[in-house]
Amino acid sequence: MNPCPCGFAGEADGRCHCQAGLVDRYTARISGPLRDRIDLWVHMPRVEPEEYVRHAAPEGSTEVAARIAVARRRQLERSGRPNSRLSGRALRAACALGPREQSHAVRLAELEGWSARGIERLLRVARTVADLAGSDAVDCSHLDEAARFRSPSGRRCGYEAVV
Ligand SMILES: [Zn+2]
Repeated sequence: MNPCPCGFAGEADGRCHCQAGLVDRYTARISGPLRDRIDLWVHMPRVEPEEYVRHAAPEGSTEVAARIAVARRRQLERSGRPNSRLSGRALRAACALGPREQSHAVRLAELEGWSARGIERLLRVARTVADLAGSDAVDCSHLDEAARFRSPSGRRCGYEAVV
C-alpha cells in the first residue's frame, strides 16, 4: 500500500503535501486485527534513476541467499523447524529473552497496542533478525528492528529511546 494518498510520504524531496491527519486516516483503513496478521511492513523509498543506473546493488542475490540459508540452518538446528512455524512456548524458548529484553518487548507492545498475536509476531521476527545477524540471543536491538518491521508506516523509529 502507498504510505499516503499521494504516495510520496517519507520521501526526502518533500513532494508529499498530505496533512498528518489525512495520512493517519489513510493508513488506519487497514484494521488492527488485519494489521496484526501481517508480519513485515517494509518502507520502500523511491530509487532515483541516477542511483539505479550508475550504482550496483550493495549486496547481490547470491550473497543474500547464502545468508538466509545459514540463518535457516540455525533455526532448524535450534528448534527442529523454521521460526515461521514456532508459536507459544516453543517460540518463547527459542527467543530465551532475558529480564531486560522481556521488559523491552512489553514496552514495545504497549506502545503499539499489540494483541498477544501481535507480540508473538514481534518475537518471531526478532528471532529471525537475530538469526540473520548470527546471534544466539535475541537482544533489544533485534526487538527494535523487528518492531520497525511491524509498524505499517515505519514512522516509529525511536524505539531505542524506550529502553
Ligand atoms: Zn502524500
